[in-house]
Amino acid sequence: MPKVNLKRYTLYLVRWQLSTPILAGVLFVLSSMDKITATVIANLIGGLIFFWVDIFIFTSKKLDVEWEIQEDIICVDCGKISRGYRIVKADNYDKSSDIKPQFRCEACSIRKTEQLRKRGISV
Ligand SMILES: [Zn+2]
Repeated sequence: MPKVNLKRYTLYLVRWQLSTPILAGVLFVLSSMDKITATVIANLIGGLIFFWVDIFIFTSKKLDVEWEIQEDIICVDCGKISRGYRIVKADNYDKSSDIKPQFRCEACSIRKTEQLRKRGISV
């Protein structure tokens, strides 16, 4: 079995749930048509919408970003003791083998994430 990205998988399952009310709504509006034609039109509308949603789900590099969160860390930037965040892995960024992982408080983590974005890393 291939390794599954849980964020992508969860989004994909949510997307399937969203398609149900949209298609049901279209079928309700087209209820005066014959069922086959109404279903073809409903699926066409669903395809027009969910093609773009699926492209995002399956190609977004932001969904590849792997975070680690720990309680009661000392922020490497400001020294505050709080819940700590760090990016372990992203496209062109790999801190998975760091011996001393660096955690940051939420505010410093947001700042660090912006710095990484400015360096061209998709986070
Ligand atoms: Zn901090």
